[in-house]
Amino acid sequence: MISLQNVTRYYESGERTVRALDGVSLAIARHEFVAVAGPSGCGKSTLMHLIAGLDRPTAGEIMVDGLRLTTAGDAALTNFRRHQLGLVFQFFNLLPTMSVRENVSLPLLLQGVPLPECEARAGELLRLVGLTERAGHFIHQLSGGEQQRTAIARALVHKPSLLIADEPTGNLDTASAARVLDLLREIAEEKLATLILVTHSVEVAAQATRLVEMRDGKVVSDVTQASSLTSRAGILPAA
Ligand code: ADP
Repeated sequence: MISLQNVTRYYESGERTVRALDGVSLAIARHEFVAVAGPSGCGKSTLMHLIAGLDRPTAGEIMVDGLRLTTAGDAALTNFRRHQLGLVFQFFNLLPTMSVRENVSLPLLLQGVPLPECEARAGELLRLVGLTERAGHFIHQLSGGEQQRTAIARALVHKPSLLIADEPTGNLDTASAARVLDLLREIAEEKLATLILVTHSVEVAAQATRLVEMRDGKVVSDVTQASSLTSRAGILPAA
């Protein structure tokens, strides 16, 4: 599903070259649930931007879902992002003047899907994330955890093959963070998408079935792990 071969991304900053990614090779199978963890500045966001087709590497090859991102034109990348990719961030990026249902429908509306179909599909996703009762509320009437679940519903509404969640629990209290992580695990178990969870928290990373650890732009460890239901009580919100 995803393949990176010897990917580097350097930034020139004055006299210095910052090696944000320094020779990363990685293969992720369809429907895997992978956590990418490591301290701030190790290259996690750079890696996600590359996999999302939002940035291009200095060198190396990246294939996602059959598309060679490294040589694809801008139109192909835009098409890839619009159809194949769902993104969830720490700051929910929801539109405050729209209802929950409208926010979740938006990616489909932008694809030109007729409104009744958009709303029906948004309804399915709101059921999945447990927010059916909140569909008509405005975003500012929701708690942080509910906003994040709305963002997850929106990220999945167009049935992307890849869901990238970048510090999705970073702004949440412990209970809301646990609920969001439960939801992400359910999405992975139901094979709704290949799931990449980016975090600097070891507890959050423990939820995935595979853990890729980065340091200084390199992958330093890559292990399969049992998704630990028992550790859920101890999940901490990322600082
Ligand atoms: P993480 O997401 O793990 O915190 P990043 O991918 O954001 O790490 O950053 C990796 C390294 O690349 C850091 O040293 C960061 O300062 C540097 N970096 C990221 N983006 C830029 C940029 N646009 N210009 C210069 N340096 C950058």
